[in-house]
Amino acid sequence: MIGYVVYGRGSFDQLDEILAPHRKEGAPMIFLLDHYFEGKELMSRIPVKGNDKVFAADVTYEPKTTYVDQLANYLKEQYGTVSGIIGIGGGSTLDLAKAVSLMMNNPGSSADYQGWDLVKNPGVYKAGIPTLSGTGAEVSRTTVLTGPTRKLGMNSDFTPFDQIVLDPALTANAPVNQRFYTGMDCYIHCIESLTGTYLNEFSKSYGEKALELCRKVFVDKDHWDDESDDQLMMASYAGGMSIAYSQVGVAHAVSYGLSYLLGTKHGIGNCIVMDHIEEFYPEGVIEFKRMVEKNKIEIPQGICKSLSDEQFDTMINVSLGMKPLWENALGKDWEKVMTREKLRELYEKL
Ligand code: NAD
Ligand code: ZN
Repeated sequence: MIGYVVYGRGSFDQLDEILAPHRKEGAPMIFLLDHYFEGKELMSRIPVKGNDKVFAADVTYEPKTTYVDQLANYLKEQYGTVSGIIGIGGGSTLDLAKAVSLMMNNPGSSADYQGWDLVKNPGVYKAGIPTLSGTGAEVSRTTVLTGPTRKLGMNSDFTPFDQIVLDPALTANAPVNQRFYTGMDCYIHCIESLTGTYLNEFSKSYGEKALELCRKVFVDKDHWDDESDDQLMMASYAGGMSIAYSQVGVAHAVSYGLSYLLGTKHGIGNCIVMDHIEEFYPEGVIEFKRMVEKNKIEIPQGICKSLSDEQFDTMINVSLGMKPLWENALGKDWEKVMTREKLRELYEKL
């Protein structure tokens, strides 16, 4: 779990005070700022002191192990150690910050730690400040990375942030489509968690709240307002808490294959898959389609049209490798339900 949580409009301005007790003599605070904010007003509000440094996090692609290693190695060479890593941005920047913090205190490459509970040492102090709502990356115990052989998180007890600052005002100017795709990540987390076999009361309590908030934002309202940003930020938090004690399911397992082969981004990839899996989530998919229509969003079609057998096989291998996700969605005998042939048929529809 996260050690410290601050929530509220304008709470970004408490950052100086929040970081003060964590500053170590001579060791800088490193701010990883989503490149979207380079040169923007938010950048000038970062409380830079002494030899602190602000790096623009390049999130053109979702985080790769090579990028994490490059940043961590640079920081180790340059400063020995740092006081902390502060991620400010969407899910990609938050994941990058978590991973770089861990790699400051763990040997080798981040690719060595893709999996469950492989990380050996706690990272340096890390704080996360989301500027998009939906992924739950601000609360989760994973950091999703694309490595040389797989796309898989560094899942560990050392992965969660020490501190998060939830300031809904930071999400205000996100483009409509991006806000929807990332918001739907949260909606899909809820559907997958609440219908999954791993569900327990902990996950259910958070999942139901997150779902209620998603509906307020994407179903009930006719236009976006400040309250929508407030609600979606809490939906993301609660949705993340829900999957912390359960798992995601079919949409994520299939979307991981797309992202590994085609580089499809997490939020949009989940939406592309969700559009075609009414067999597994009948009510969730109907409601999803209603939200797509109401919010006037286009979901890409035909993205697997011209792929080769080999490419389909790659996606199928990546997807079927996500065993806990399938087991959560379909139960212990999931391999009998989701055969390679069935998964190929599904990919062909996307
Ligand atoms: P993102 O971080 O990939 O950002 C998408 C785009 O939005 C980028 O171009 C970014 O620069 C821009 N952006 C960010 N904030 C903005 C703002 N306020 N206004 C305008 N543009 C803004 O998007 P995301 O959907 O938040 O995150 C997806 C990533 O999160 C993926 O890498 C995925 O693997 C990861 N993820 C992690 C977890 C986890 O538990 N760790 C869970 C789900 C997803
Ligand atoms: Zn997700």
